Amino acid sequence: MSTVPRLILKNGREKSLLRKHPWIFSGAIERVVGEPGVGETLDVVDSAGQFLARAAYSPSSQIRARVWTFASEEAVDSGFFRRRLERALDSRRRLGLLGAGGACRLVFAESDGLPGLIVDRYADYVVCQFLSAGADRARDLVSDALMELCEPRGVFERSEASVRRKEGLASQRGVLRGDAPPAEIEVRMGGTNWLVDVANGQKTGAYLDQQRNRERVAELAHGAEVLDAFAYTGGFAITALAAGAAGATLVESSAEALRTAEREAEANGVAGRCRFVAASVFDELRSQRDDGRRYDLVVLDPPKFVHSAEQVNAGSRGYKDVNMLGLALVKPGGLLATFSCSGHVDAPLFQKIVAGAALDAGRDAQIIERLSQPADHPIALEFPEAEYLKGLILRVH
Ligand code: SAH
Repeated sequence: MSTVPRLILKNGREKSLLRKHPWIFSGAIERVVGEPGVGETLDVVDSAGQFLARAAYSPSSQIRARVWTFASEEAVDSGFFRRRLERALDSRRRLGLLGAGGACRLVFAESDGLPGLIVDRYADYVVCQFLSAGADRARDLVSDALMELCEPRGVFERSEASVRRKEGLASQRGVLRGDAPPAEIEVRMGGTNWLVDVANGQKTGAYLDQQRNRERVAELAHGAEVLDAFAYTGGFAITALAAGAAGATLVESSAEALRTAEREAEANGVAGRCRFVAASVFDELRSQRDDGRRYDLVVLDPPKFVHSAEQVNAGSRGYKDVNMLGLALVKPGGLLATFSCSGHVDAPLFQKIVAGAALDAGRDAQIIERLSQPADHPIALEFPEAEYLKGLILRVH
């Protein structure tokens, strides 16, 4: 008898796996044979016992297993992780994202065939998030392979996202291999200098998913007075100023992030054209609106408002409120660049919310460009859930 634990699906529940979707929900499972540990690899079979996939077991999660491979002959071992990481790295290399001193996302979880694993690179360091039971169990194999393939100075872990709780995993942070990163890693992106605190910053230290959009928005910002709302360390403002914007106001609730923004502005020679406001965007934008302040370009890049399907209505209200405020602050003929990183709010719904905001704000606006997530955050065709970031650039009359 085989010692490999097996997960047997209910009759007819193999369809999504045959389309190579990597998630197995608890409701699709007939029974589990053997006693798989948390994150252990098991074989997934259909109700007739036919092999479908090899997956990692997550006993605490509604997503009870995540597929590593659909090939019956492929073992999930060190060679497996090496091959998957090599493929992900090769894609970024071909995109020209691996230049010295730069930063990019090296592994985007399910879309790179590695469910639950995020790897970001900041110059000579890599930062991992192990967000599923299977990824968590693969920590050592992944760390060793990253040392070998990327030759970084160190591998650091920031496994702290709320999704780990759903997997029954506690937060973990610290050095996995090599040297501890400095308090701030200097990286260069889009011709500007960034200071990334991978140990204490948000996410793995920076929002790499917005880099291409910062550069695109900056191209439209020449000579503009810019409002960067939800600024974090000023990604949009500083990129726009470096590209010739006249001035920028950064609004951000984290005083710590704003202090970093000040030093980044210095490092890029644009501090003299910045105003830093540590405040809630909702309060600050309302008061600026009432004071009659107006901008040529307003950027709204809020945090994720919607974390589950149940939150779509409440979150939509949040997006509408913030967009009404943002629209009110645009000079006639100016631009609004507005984003949502909530996967549960898809692009058509986001557009509808923004349209409602314009109607209530009494402003006419046109979409002049749609933005999405960059090439280092790819969307595997069989896994549309990977799509989460969307943006609109509007001309506001
Ligand atoms: N635009 C940034 C990323 C923004 S992430 C960049 O380009 O890097 C969202 C940011 O909003 C976080 O930094 C978070 O601290 C901040 N934030 C969350 N709620 C806020 C609020 N109500 N008012 C102001 N900032 C807020």
